[in-house]
Amino acid sequence: MSTKIEVNNLNKSFGSLHVLKDISMTVNNKEVVCLIGASGSGKSTLLRCMNFLEMKDSGTVVIDGKEVDVKKDNLNKVRQKVGMVFQHFHLFPHKTVLENVMEAPIQVEGLKKAEAKKIASDLLAKVGLSDKENVYPSKLSGGQKQRVAIARALAMRPEVMLFDEPTSALDPELVGEVLKTMKELAEEGMTMVVVTHEMGFAQEVADRVVYMHDGKIVEEGSPSQLFNEPKNQRTKEFLDAVL
Ligand code: ADP
Ligand code: MG
Repeated sequence: MSTKIEVNNLNKSFGSLHVLKDISMTVNNKEVVCLIGASGSGKSTLLRCMNFLEMKDSGTVVIDGKEVDVKKDNLNKVRQKVGMVFQHFHLFPHKTVLENVMEAPIQVEGLKKAEAKKIASDLLAKVGLSDKENVYPSKLSGGQKQRVAIARALAMRPEVMLFDEPTSALDPELVGEVLKTMKELAEEGMTMVVVTHEMGFAQEVADRVVYMHDGKIVEEGSPSQLFNEPKNQRTKEFLDAVL
C-alpha cells in the first residue's frame, strides 16, 4: 500500500510549550484516519504541520514518498496536494459561492475562467449546492458554508484532504449534511485525515483511529478495536468521557 503522508519523529514547540512530542504517523493511500483526543492535545498542530501551515522544529514530513524541504520545495505545490478544511469555514465574504470555489484554480493554478467555472460548478453539484452558486456566503447556513469550503478545497484536486473539526462550529441539526458529504468523499477513495469529536463518524467511516494525549500518540487501531477494546487506560478514560 502506498503512503500518502508520513511524519517521522515530529517535534513542535510554541515557546517553552512542547506541543508535539516525537510523533510518528502514516496515512496510506485511500485511507481515512480519524484523529481524536482532548482539546489542547496537539491535534490541530499535527494537522497543520502536515500541510506546512505550521513548521515543525524537528523530524520529517514525507508527502507521496518525498521528504518536503521547506527551504527548497514550493510549499504551494505541496498544499495543492494536501487540501484542508477548517472549523471556521474561511470563505471569502465578498465573493459568491461559485467565485469562492473558482478562486484557487485561477489564482494558484492559472486556469482560464471558463475551465475553473466548470470545475467549480461540478463540485458544487457534488456537494448539493448547485442552487447556491450565485449567492454570497452570508446567505448560507453553517452546514452549507462548510460544504462550499469542502468544494473549494477539492477544486485544487488534492490527493489528501485534512479536516480540522469541520462540524464543531455547526448547530447540531447541520452536522449530518457535512458528515454525509465527507462520507461520500471517503467512499470515492479520497485519502483523509479527520480531527473530530464525532465518534459515530469515526466508528462508521474511519479505517483507523488515532488517539492523542498531551502531544503524543497514545494508541491507534481500527475503530472497533479502539472503541471496544482500548488497551491504554488514558484511551479508556477519554472514551468513557465522550461516548
Ligand atoms: P488541539 O487541536 O488538540 O486542541 P492544538 O494543536 O490546537 O490542540 O494545541 C496544542 C497546544 O498548543 C495548546 O496548548 C495550544 O494552546 C498550543 N498552541 C497551539 N497553537 C499555538 C500557537 N500558534 N501559539 C502558541 N501556542 C499554541
Ligand atoms: Mg484543534
